[in-house]
Amino acid sequence: MQTTAIIGGGFSGTLAAVNLARFATTPQRVVIINSGRPFGRGTAYGTTRGEHLLNVAARNMSAFPDHPSHFFDWLRSRCDYDGLSDDVLRETFIPRRIFGDYVRGLASHYLGGADPRSQVECQVVEDSAVDIQPRGENGGVVMLEHGEPIEAESVLLATGNQPPAGLPGSGKLANDRRYCGNPWTAWHENLPGDDKHIVILGTGLTAVDVIVTLRHKGWNGKITAISRNGMLPQRHFRGIAWPTSIPDDGQTRSLKELVSLIRQDCQRLRGASQNPAIAVDKLRSRTQQLWRDLSIDEKRQFLKDYAADWNVIRHRIAGPIHDAVTDSLDCGQLTILPATIESLDAGETSIEVQLAAGGEGPDRIHGDMVINCTGPKSRFSDSQIPLYRALFDRGIAKPDAMDMGIAVTDDFAVVGDDDRPSSFLYAIGPILKGTLWETIAVPELRQQAMAVVQTILKQKPIRVASPETIEYCI
Ligand SMILES: Cc1cc2nc3c(=O)[nH]c(=O)nc-3n(C[C@H](O)[C@H](O)[C@H](O)COP(=O)(O)OP(=O)(O)OC[C@H]3O[C@@H](n4cnc5c(N)ncnc54)[C@H](O)[C@@H]3O)c2cc1C
Repeated sequence: MQTTAIIGGGFSGTLAAVNLARFATTPQRVVIINSGRPFGRGTAYGTTRGEHLLNVAARNMSAFPDHPSHFFDWLRSRCDYDGLSDDVLRETFIPRRIFGDYVRGLASHYLGGADPRSQVECQVVEDSAVDIQPRGENGGVVMLEHGEPIEAESVLLATGNQPPAGLPGSGKLANDRRYCGNPWTAWHENLPGDDKHIVILGTGLTAVDVIVTLRHKGWNGKITAISRNGMLPQRHFRGIAWPTSIPDDGQTRSLKELVSLIRQDCQRLRGASQNPAIAVDKLRSRTQQLWRDLSIDEKRQFLKDYAADWNVIRHRIAGPIHDAVTDSLDCGQLTILPATIESLDAGETSIEVQLAAGGEGPDRIHGDMVINCTGPKSRFSDSQIPLYRALFDRGIAKPDAMDMGIAVTDDFAVVGDDDRPSSFLYAIGPILKGTLWETIAVPELRQQAMAVVQTILKQKPIRVASPETIEYCI
């Protein structure tokens, strides 16, 4: 019996295990090693808060690329949505915890042992993987923090994003109840009074999660959210069919040329009274290839000059969430402060956030509670995560050329220090960001979770028909 060890039991790891169960034709043992976040749910869908909505419409959240309506059909099995027509339900942004139920349910259906035809025997181990020792040319041994080592012919890294990076001074606040360094914790159980001030570091999707939770808790104090560009995520909108100016002719284009073509598209869209974000939406299915075709210098230039704008346009939020944030701004509860955060310091009565001099606003701001929503740590070469440190020290993995994840080949084999692809170690998910750029959301991850399994099982890739063109709300 072949063993596949999957490190990480979020969406990516769980779906890889489910696909092993769907496609294996010979007996397989699957061991999912997961810690930190709930199995089957991971960081995004492990939230227990009903106000946290998906930022992708229901119709595009199927876990299976070869069954695009699967999530929608599953939703139809719940009475909660009986009152919604099919057309409305397809465009609805469902609570993330319900999507977590869906993924957890798939795990129990495919991995729970009820199907007598299943070739897969699955075990979930609640532990942290801290190292992988290669076994010559035949697999590896996953070392766990607490439990016994696990021998496997194939090992898949599906470890998700790194936790947020610390900020200067935050180390000293590790035990300070007024500071939350990781927004995926139950910080909302420890709120200060309504006459107090909460400072959110960041204005992206995580900051939005925090703002809507504060509203749902009925917390009436003041909120200041700080980021360099001071840009909040935009709202999903209904767009139009739009022919992009970037020809799909297989030719490599320079960053300069791409920027110029996208700008032309944006201008034409504005001229037609349409949202210029449509120009970015239309590139979704080709973004990974366009990114791969850029040189390292061009990728660096993109990150420096365009990535902030790209992210604000690309990662939009559901209408009701946007309405809630807008309401907080309108009523004066929420202030957005464009500024560069320099450092944090524990004062006697509050936490002081030092801001870079030279901006138009204050040079410091005080919070009775400060929450770090600056997003996952992006650099990997100085990662403090024991597993990555061990893999880099052994030379069986290395950071990708952009230092934004783990280097992999086109079929997800991890590339070692010697630039050779591993014969047993694979990686999928957000840790492929430097290689693929567009690799954090379900529409891309479901493809990866199926394709990597076909590589592991040495099966021919299943060709999935291209999805229908989605003109809005991607
Ligand atoms: C708040 C939030 C909301 C999002 N909303 C959406 C959305 O609406 N739609 C969408 O398409 N995408 C969304 N995303 C993108 C999201 O990243 C993906 O959809 C997906 O959840 C990523 O899953 P993953 O399994 O790759 O990573 P994760 O969910 O992070 O799971 C990785 C798991 O591995 C565990 N792990 C890590 N290292 C180890 C180790 N060494 N040993 C053992 N276990 C380990 C982690 O603790 C975690 O449980 C959202 C992301 C976030 C953070």
